[in-house]
Amino acid sequence: MKKCLVIGGGIAGLTSAVYLLKAGFKVELLESSPKLGGRAYSFQDLSTGTVIDNGQHILMGCYKETLKFLKIINAEDNLHIQKRLSVNFLAPKQKLYKLKSFPLFYPLNLVAGLLNYKALNFNERIRLLLLLSRLPFYSGDKLESLSIYEWLEMENQSMQVRKAFWEIIAVGAMNTNIEKASAKVFVNLIKRMFLNGNFSTKIILPAYGLTETYCNHAEKFIEDHCGIINLQEGIQSVNINNNKICEVITTKKSITEFDYLISSVPQYALKKIFPEENFSKTDFAYSSILSVHLWLKENVLDKTFYGLIDSHVHWIFNHGSHLTIVISDADKYIDESKENILSIILSELEKYTNIKREMVESFKIIKEKRATFVASKETQHSRPCTKTNISNFFLAGDWIDTGLPSTIESAVLSGRLAAEAVIAADKK
Ligand SMILES: Cc1cc2nc3c(=O)[nH]c(=O)nc-3n(C[C@H](O)[C@H](O)[C@H](O)COP(=O)(O)OP(=O)(O)OC[C@H]3O[C@@H](n4cnc5c(N)ncnc54)[C@H](O)[C@@H]3O)c2cc1C
Repeated sequence: MKKCLVIGGGIAGLTSAVYLLKAGFKVELLESSPKLGGRAYSFQDLSTGTVIDNGQHILMGCYKETLKFLKIINAEDNLHIQKRLSVNFLAPKQKLYKLKSFPLFYPLNLVAGLLNYKALNFNERIRLLLLLSRLPFYSGDKLESLSIYEWLEMENQSMQVRKAFWEIIAVGAMNTNIEKASAKVFVNLIKRMFLNGNFSTKIILPAYGLTETYCNHAEKFIEDHCGIINLQEGIQSVNINNNKICEVITTKKSITEFDYLISSVPQYALKKIFPEENFSKTDFAYSSILSVHLWLKENVLDKTFYGLIDSHVHWIFNHGSHLTIVISDADKYIDESKENILSIILSELEKYTNIKREMVESFKIIKEKRATFVASKETQHSRPCTKTNISNFFLAGDWIDTGLPSTIESAVLSGRLAAEAVIAADKK
């Protein structure tokens, strides 16, 4: 039986491990931190006893790879899947606008929903619909050199359509401002969301903390299939001989008994293991996300989540016991003190909701500095593919050339592709 080492226990590494075990390989996964999940995990907040995520993760019906993976590890029931697309948008003075697809056949349900989205005037809704109807005819080449901002300019989308529709989706999905983010990657994503049938448009939220939702299930699958998971064991370096990795040096041991190696670590971590190799042309930039978990004396919100129009706070998620407030593309706030961040958030919440400062009982701020890589026009040319020049070494991770932004779906897709590349190499 052939053996593959997998570096990294984030969702990409877990996916590779699961697909390889399914195909009959021996797998040893090495993770430098004490936990699985990488950038998507949960833990118990000690002061309140609540299980919280390191950051709210939103999935969509178009996350086909992720849903398939969750099914394999028996975790598909750990999700709240909307019956149909429904998003509540808040504007200042507590104005609520609904974007909700109608109980009609696809795509009429979506068209009716957009025509009824009252944050836009009628002309703006028509212009938005016309742009969506042109999406099937867009080729990647046309968008190659454009940012999302330039694309929306080219498509005559008014300021209000940008603020009340495009920016909210784009900043949420790309975690990068629209001036920097690649139009090609974004259009690829919205095609998957809106042009792939009704299910693809639905928003899906994890029903439990992320660790319970998928990490524990992936761990069980791996252990049930005799895979090995070693936590707190980082890879420090490798030795290459005859264009093949022959030795892996971890913080605990040297490993020579293996046939293949998959790395699922982010680009900056890969460079430390392979200081001599250049797997991508440029160094990736990263963008941060701020999550503020708020416990209130009473919960005054009645919807599950809200998008905020024209605000530097992007989303509010209502978990019943507490709220999670998300600022994406948060580099300008990340070094602020926790008190300042809370103050910025609360003054925004006071504008958009009936939440008042004096209602706050407790809060926890989580700063993820390198939450996602910046999927800019430039980055797109630097994303490497799964296969490398080293014959037994393959790449996974959300930053590999999947055509998707830095998301769970990209990570899962990359993990499956790396496993399949190992399986194919082994058949040669
Ligand atoms: C706050 C936040 C919110 C997000 N929201 C969303 C969202 O709503 N929807 C969405 O789709 N995506 C979201 N994302 C992005 C998503 O979490 C990531 O794209 C995905 O988790 C990346 O997975 P990965 O396996 O590629 O990388 P990682 O999760 O970074 O995993 C890499 C793993 O490798 C380990 N490692 C590093 N170096 C070594 C080494 N030398 N040896 C061994 N192990 C090593 C790391 O410890 C880590 O566990 C969000 C991210 C954050 C941080």
